[in-house]
Amino acid sequence: MLATGASCPVGPSVSGVVDRAPAGADAVEITYLGVGGWIMERGDVRVMTAPLFSNPSFVGTGLTGIVSDSAAVDAGLNGRDLSDVRAILVGHGHYDHLMDVPYVARRYAPTARIVTTTTVQNLLGTWAGLDDRLVLVDDSAGDVDHMGRWIDLGPGLRVLPLRSNHAPHFDGYTFYAGTVDTPRDTPPRWATEWLDGPSFAFLIDFLDADGSVAFRIYYQDAVAGAPRGFAPAELMAERPSDVAIFVPSTFDQVDWHPEAFVANLRPRWVLLGHWEDFFGPPSGEARSVALTDVNHFRARLRRVHEGEHWLPDLNTVFRFPVR
Ligand SMILES: [Zn+2]
Repeated sequence: MLATGASCPVGPSVSGVVDRAPAGADAVEITYLGVGGWIMERGDVRVMTAPLFSNPSFVGTGLTGIVSDSAAVDAGLNGRDLSDVRAILVGHGHYDHLMDVPYVARRYAPTARIVTTTTVQNLLGTWAGLDDRLVLVDDSAGDVDHMGRWIDLGPGLRVLPLRSNHAPHFDGYTFYAGTVDTPRDTPPRWATEWLDGPSFAFLIDFLDADGSVAFRIYYQDAVAGAPRGFAPAELMAERPSDVAIFVPSTFDQVDWHPEAFVANLRPRWVLLGHWEDFFGPPSGEARSVALTDVNHFRARLRRVHEGEHWLPDLNTVFRFPVR
């Protein structure tokens, strides 16, 4: 029933390697891990966004409870070396953005800071063993009118949190909405316990040695209703984004997504993430979530964005030249 009408599931538009940089050029590589997970790297400067590999079933999220599946994470990462990842960015507390983070951070990225919100801090509480690695975004976040404060992540890398919000999932209703105000001492067991809290997007800058911006990425892990989730207008006037990562799923629950974001960010390239059905193991060719018309999103994007955009399969690698 859900597959009829305007929202037939679609597959990825690309897989493998998309290379837009000359051989040997100074380049930024961006790898899609599925759902909200991306690795962004320039040489040995590396940062990532929160991935999900456990992919509990639809029934699991509603009826039987959910836990992070370390074997699924191991399979999804497939031996990938994340040992020098400097930070894992987590924009809100829903399970599909946070449930696998403790295992990834402890087992694979042991020196990464977790850049995130107070609700996420309380969800991770005392059980996750990550408290001394958290960097909270609440006080440093910018928005369209305020520059905010960059978070320094070591030589060549900084991030700016952006005040955002979380679009409803359907018909104006948002699942698992609310804040967590006291630290948990046990992991959440139910999807309903992974509350979103306030949501944030991020600007990620790779910097040259003189401090100038070499490459700028915008990342959102949920659809936002503009102008929430915008980058500071003043900053974009100085230097637009090179890549913007948008979320198609549930875009039709807000107005002017993606158009308003393209106008704010003026990206050269657009990558679409968190577009695929994640209620099953991440195997085979990904398929879009049934309730979103991804082709309609792409048609609207094409009207306002002249450059290339992609709907990547899992593990697609993009390589872009630094300006
Ligand atoms: Zn969410």
